[in-house]
Amino acid sequence: MTTTRARVARSETVEELGARRRARDAVTASLAEVAAAVRDDHDRWMSHIAGAAGCSHPIRLVGNVTHVEASTWRITRDVHTTEMPDGVLYTPCGNRRASVCAGCAETYRADTYQLVAAGLVGGKGVPASVSEHPCVFLTVTAPSFGPVHAHRTDRAGRTIACRPRRHLEHCPHGAPLACFDRHDDDAPELGRPLCLDCYDHPTQAVWNLHAGELWRRTMIAARRGITALEKRHHIKLRLSYTKVAEFQARGAVHLHALVRLDGRDPTDPDAVLVPDARVGAHHLATVLRRAVEETRFVTAPHPARELGWPIVWGEQVDPRPVRLSRLDLDDSGEITTGAVAGYLAKYATKATELAGHASTRLRPDTVRDYARLDTHPGRQIDACWHLGTRPETVDAEEWAAGWGRLRRWAHMLGFGGHFSTRSRRYSTTLAALRQARRDWRREHAPHPDEDDELADEDTTEVIVNSLAFAGIGWHTSADALLANTSAANARARRRAAKEETTTPA
Ligand SMILES: [Zn+2]
Ligand SMILES: [Zn+2]
Ligand SMILES: [Zn+2]
Repeated sequence: MTTTRARVARSETVEELGARRRARDAVTASLAEVAAAVRDDHDRWMSHIAGAAGCSHPIRLVGNVTHVEASTWRITRDVHTTEMPDGVLYTPCGNRRASVCAGCAETYRADTYQLVAAGLVGGKGVPASVSEHPCVFLTVTAPSFGPVHAHRTDRAGRTIACRPRRHLEHCPHGAPLACFDRHDDDAPELGRPLCLDCYDHPTQAVWNLHAGELWRRTMIAARRGITALEKRHHIKLRLSYTKVAEFQARGAVHLHALVRLDGRDPTDPDAVLVPDARVGAHHLATVLRRAVEETRFVTAPHPARELGWPIVWGEQVDPRPVRLSRLDLDDSGEITTGAVAGYLAKYATKATELAGHASTRLRPDTVRDYARLDTHPGRQIDACWHLGTRPETVDAEEWAAGWGRLRRWAHMLGFGGHFSTRSRRYSTTLAALRQARRDWRREHAPHPDEDDELADEDTTEVIVNSLAFAGIGWHTSADALLANTSAANARARRRAAKEETTTPA
């Protein structure tokens, strides 16, 4: 939790943020002017590509877009992409990872912020009274798989020695089991084991694979705790949460969750009510701490370990009440709504990059490039690959559904879960936000083309796309500049407006 607070506290001041935005807007505006001079169909093209403008490598599609009247199946309009600017339709790549597509990741981050914020303060169809519910920010970590280099600070925030020891000992491989360096919080050696051979890479891989299941069981235990509270006070309660996975530098997965206590109406399962005033955030924190401490299980047997691996959370459990405030962080140590939403949203766009590894799904012919035994990330991938490789005696289907997932998710260091999830009644959904964005774009299109004249008939009309993949990316770098800069400007304006309105007063 100390790292969480340090990161939150370092966020920009309002003045710095404003200055940075103004400087960026000035540069992008003049760049866009230059790029606009390159295209003579500028206005029509901008309107055509609007949906994919922020993407750095959009998917190009060719084919027919057919509008069909739903009641009669009469074709009202049939357009081939050859009639469109560039002869293609552009669709955003939609990648969540900032290292893959900064634009699409930013869209995802902003959407996640909206989802988290709506669950905290209401909006987007969530009642504003949720801001009165007890709410707790919970971080759960993996146990230790061996000593690693770490950024450590004293109470005053000064960086102190990594792993000081009065008597220097060595591991069986001859590596010193102490480190007197003061590592900065972005030092490349953070999360690297003191000894690669001592570090338990296989167990970490297995733990990552089971992190989602450990979370599921923990929530079941927490719900039991909530049921006990219900009985004691003769009230009706429900847990709602949103959670985000984060890779630590050592390659183990962390989960950050915002857990909210709701009142419920047994006759109306969708109602989100303010819970009875006798239960507060400290009750919720106690229930969660107990659930995290008590939940454990043993994995299925593996040929390399017949009795399976025990799966538990790490020892640091520190559920913190969340307070409603415009300020990012106050001195009481409670985290405030704006900071929490920003923090969760930011981590939703990162994955293994933080653990020093970035690749797509690995195959037998590509795994050798990554599963290098002289690096920590390489050892992790190697462990996933080996433990996930099927022994000839095991049925292929059975293996694929079990330990085979370690191989399938080797590029995620074994973690095959979702990076950002929420319980059903926590907030709105990403799909709802995407639809809202499409509607917004249609209403605000600066140069509506003929498509939009049919917008009013939306409910009675079906659009049938018969499109084929034509390629990836913009045609020229000038096009990319033009599209991306206009999107960056629009996004900055939207983000400023949205986040200001959703930050509670
Ligand atoms: Zn993209
Ligand atoms: Zn160190
Ligand atoms: Zn060793």
